[in-house]
Amino acid sequence: MSRQTYREPNGRWGVKGISWAEIPDGLYGALCKLRDYEDRCEHPHLIESLMDEGDFTEWTLVDSEHNVWQCNHCGRLHRFEADGPDENGFACCPYCGKFIENGSEDIDDEPA
Ligand SMILES: [Zn+2]
Repeated sequence: MSRQTYREPNGRWGVKGISWAEIPDGLYGALCKLRDYEDRCEHPHLIESLMDEGDFTEWTLVDSEHNVWQCNHCGRLHRFEADGPDENGFACCPYCGKFIENGSEDIDDEPA
């Protein structure tokens, strides 16, 4: 797939075929992420930086009565109808975009 964003040598960037005037302000953050993602795809060594610990967060159940979860990175709260982020297919925090790392339940560090 070809890039949807472009970068000029002077550092300016944008979305192909769309002027900034047409883009709602609310989309700016998402487009920044797309641009960064596409930069990384063009420069594979940068993909490693996607996997830095800094791109992961954990969600904690802070109110079990109302099933409210909190992102440990950005602190935003999210309420699920049932179950947690894993069961609801949340791979990333919708507020800060970090990958949600599940709790210790899936990790088996016990030496064999
Ligand atoms: Zn978050």
